[in-house]
Amino acid sequence: MQRARAYLDSVAPLIPDADRDRTFPMEIVPGLLDVGFVRGAIPVADGGLGLSHLDSALLMEEAGRCWGSIRTTANILTLVAELLSMAGTDEQKQRFLQPLLAGRRLGWFAITEPDAGSDVSALSTRAERRPDGSYRLTGRKAYITNASHGDFGIVLATVDPDLGSRGVTAFLVERADGYRTLDRPHLPVRSVTCCDIELDGVVVPAANVLGEIGRGLSLAMRAVNAGRLNVSAGCTGLAQAALEAATDHTQNRHQFGRPLAGFQLVQQLVVDIAVRTRAARQMYQSAARLLDAGHQARTECSMAKYFCSETANAAATSAVQVFGAAGLMDGSVPERLFRDAREATIPEGTSQIQILQIGKELLGVSALR
Ligand SMILES: Cc1cc2nc3c(=O)[nH]c(=O)nc-3n(C[C@H](O)[C@H](O)[C@H](O)COP(=O)(O)OP(=O)(O)OC[C@H]3O[C@@H](n4cnc5c(N)ncnc54)[C@H](O)[C@@H]3O)c2cc1C
Repeated sequence: MQRARAYLDSVAPLIPDADRDRTFPMEIVPGLLDVGFVRGAIPVADGGLGLSHLDSALLMEEAGRCWGSIRTTANILTLVAELLSMAGTDEQKQRFLQPLLAGRRLGWFAITEPDAGSDVSALSTRAERRPDGSYRLTGRKAYITNASHGDFGIVLATVDPDLGSRGVTAFLVERADGYRTLDRPHLPVRSVTCCDIELDGVVVPAANVLGEIGRGLSLAMRAVNAGRLNVSAGCTGLAQAALEAATDHTQNRHQFGRPLAGFQLVQQLVVDIAVRTRAARQMYQSAARLLDAGHQARTECSMAKYFCSETANAAATSAVQVFGAAGLMDGSVPERLFRDAREATIPEGTSQIQILQIGKELLGVSALR
């Protein structure tokens, strides 16, 4: 963990310019892999480090403390690597997983479509089987993280719309297959790209089916569960960064002849960040321990995602308040944290979707539809 923090501290000076310019310093990716990101979550047999869920989540907290765009990039690469490790054939692991773990290939993961967001079962991207066994993919994906940076991705598409979720299948698609990406400028984590993807009759070989036909959604949901844990840990790191920035500012900024730290109402803002951050940490770590003990922990991962992402927003808002106008200026740390926190309650299941999943588990009734 100390190596990871030291590496992240060493890349921190790159953040202000990259965040302003909406670019990602790709040269840091091998270093991220080297200190355990992405590789950590993958079993040793597949070329990873086989870290526990808890250790992987602790790394993700460090990433969130450093920069939302690193946390998001690491999270998506981890998700892609986990899907390949869980369901890939030996040949797929050689072609996609090993180069990804070596930092030679970058991948993305696409479920969302313009008309299928929270309701993933509504996805309509079509995969038609051709006489030679290959598949022709046609459809449009939306908001896909780093699709323009990556050179391959995992696309969920249906082989038969009449089968509903049982028709949804995962496909590996390479840039050379001919998909097009369109970057969409966005508010948070602005050094990752957020892309529409056009699949206009893209043909992939049968060897690019990932996992079983019709099992794409359940495969994705297994990875998304750990993804929610990673988001929770990253959000805790963001809240920790808000706490550190706010604490520092209260000691250095003077008004009415005293440091801000001496005002009770300012103390309340800082204490609220501290208490919520500590609670968030307990929440994600307890979910991680359950996963490590072999439980599915879906409800606990949803609870952690809900609580930690809302905590990140509350913490960033309070940090802006502690800074006053300085916290709203371009390039200030609270301003960046405030923007980045806003992302956390939407991907990998919005806060509302987490609430409904937790409610279903607690009350035995689904309020989703
Ligand atoms: C920065 C960013 C990166 C992303 N990266 C990826 C990616 O890499 N891959 C990918 O596949 N997707 C990605 N997404 C998409 C993300 O997963 C979706 O945005 C998310 O699932 C929500 O879908 P939606 O935006 O269409 O909102 P909608 O589903 O339209 O929801 C709009 C609002 O309605 C609420 N709502 C919806 N249904 C219900 C209900 N039944 N009950 C109560 N409230 C409800 C939601 O909570 C939300 O508040 C990304 C999104 C963002 C913002």
